[in-house]
Amino acid sequence: MQYISTRGEAPQLGFADVTLAGLARDGGLYVPQTWPRLSPETIAGFAGRPFHEIAVEVIAPFTGGDIARADLARMSREAYAQFGHPAVTPLVQIGPDRWILELFHGPTLAFKDVAMQLLARLLDHILMQRGERATIVGATSGDTGGAAIEAFRGSKRVDVVILYPHGRVSDVQRRMMTTPTEANVHALAIEGTFDDAQAQVKAMFNHLAFRDRLKLSAVNSINWARIVAQVTYYFAAGAVLGAPHRKLSFIVPTGNFGDILAGWVARQMGLPIAQLVIASNENDILPRTVAAGIYETRGVVATTSPSMDIQVSSNFERYLFEAVGRDAGLIRAQMASLAQSGRFDLGGAKARLQADFAAASASEREVADTIRTTEQSAGYLAEPHTACGIFAAAKAPPGCAQVVLATAHPAKFPDAMQDITGRRPGLPERLASLLSDTERTSVLPNDQGAIERFIEARARVVAGESA
Ligand SMILES: *Cc1c(COP(=O)(O)O)cnc(C)c1O
Repeated sequence: MQYISTRGEAPQLGFADVTLAGLARDGGLYVPQTWPRLSPETIAGFAGRPFHEIAVEVIAPFTGGDIARADLARMSREAYAQFGHPAVTPLVQIGPDRWILELFHGPTLAFKDVAMQLLARLLDHILMQRGERATIVGATSGDTGGAAIEAFRGSKRVDVVILYPHGRVSDVQRRMMTTPTEANVHALAIEGTFDDAQAQVKAMFNHLAFRDRLKLSAVNSINWARIVAQVTYYFAAGAVLGAPHRKLSFIVPTGNFGDILAGWVARQMGLPIAQLVIASNENDILPRTVAAGIYETRGVVATTSPSMDIQVSSNFERYLFEAVGRDAGLIRAQMASLAQSGRFDLGGAKARLQADFAAASASEREVADTIRTTEQSAGYLAEPHTACGIFAAAKAPPGCAQVVLATAHPAKFPDAMQDITGRRPGLPERLASLLSDTERTSVLPNDQGAIERFIEARARVVAGESA
């Protein structure tokens, strides 16, 4: 399997190189040259099989021989053994035709663990085969940083430095980054906002001498391996609920278009999906795009679902590439327009977008109402991201079984939950020590030189430890 860039001006790469590269050199995103398909018999056969085995069947066609099947099977088994539920991503019924797909049973209580736990093992494995090391640098507004530190702690080949805005992430989110004790993971508080932290990461990637010396790599949501790892739970849930013989709708709280893209990939691979519904909060760039066929960024407003407070949905480019018939020149023009004027017109791709997706956004008030009514009617406590999904599900046409993806555990957003329900949700038992464990963090000014010196002093790539 080879991968091509959505902008058409980067070299084709195999799975291992794409996993290491993240972004393509021409600024585009890598997509597989063809979409593998699973037969109806294969999909039906997923019912009753463990999650880690389904993951191998779903992911193996994308690896194109870069990862031996036995190695993939071992990594998948190890990754999903870290989850606190035997089903890994269990379903909970909340209505006659509505289920919640709980994606938050991983170590950091957010769905990002599903992909990150596997990605960490894949990267270590690829670097081991090549006798190389890497330094992962990332910025987080909350969930991604914890998932990355948790997944890579103890990695033999990878050091991780996560920048977060000092004083601007929740206690639970910060502690997930600062309490792991392994020497290869570092949480670094920057005196500034998330945008400052993000800008520092971009600046380091643009500082080519530093980037090459440190072998910088990224694990943000544009990494293809993360998307493909998320495809698994669409098939797993589908099979439990009777796919391919029964058509289901999936409703997906999404910001960067990663999670919903994984659902679209599942459909490309042969999973019958009636409706794929984009659920957003008040930052509604995606629902506006579906309605009008014009992608237009506006200012970000802060909501109770902060992981969806986004105004540029990076992974949308992957879908758009398909919707315009893989015309890389057109994508380049659209992205140039976006960079210059903050908008572009989908043109003829609008009809395809509207055929492929429905969309709805929930106001802060609708999120709070949905949390309260879902608890009253079904006895189910949803956090605000998930509530955006439940709200969108209620707007979708009835007559089809609905699966709403739950992307985080309520305990991850205790302040918002307290405001809405009057109660603070407790952490699951296995995280009981999180709030008392010793923290280890460093605070630095918003200064590129200081941040680079911090990283250089700690990265094993620089220390020249034997590979
Ligand atoms: C990251 C995140 C999302 C959005 O994921 P996308 O990849 O942007 O679709 C939704 N909910 C939670 C809790 C998250 O952490």
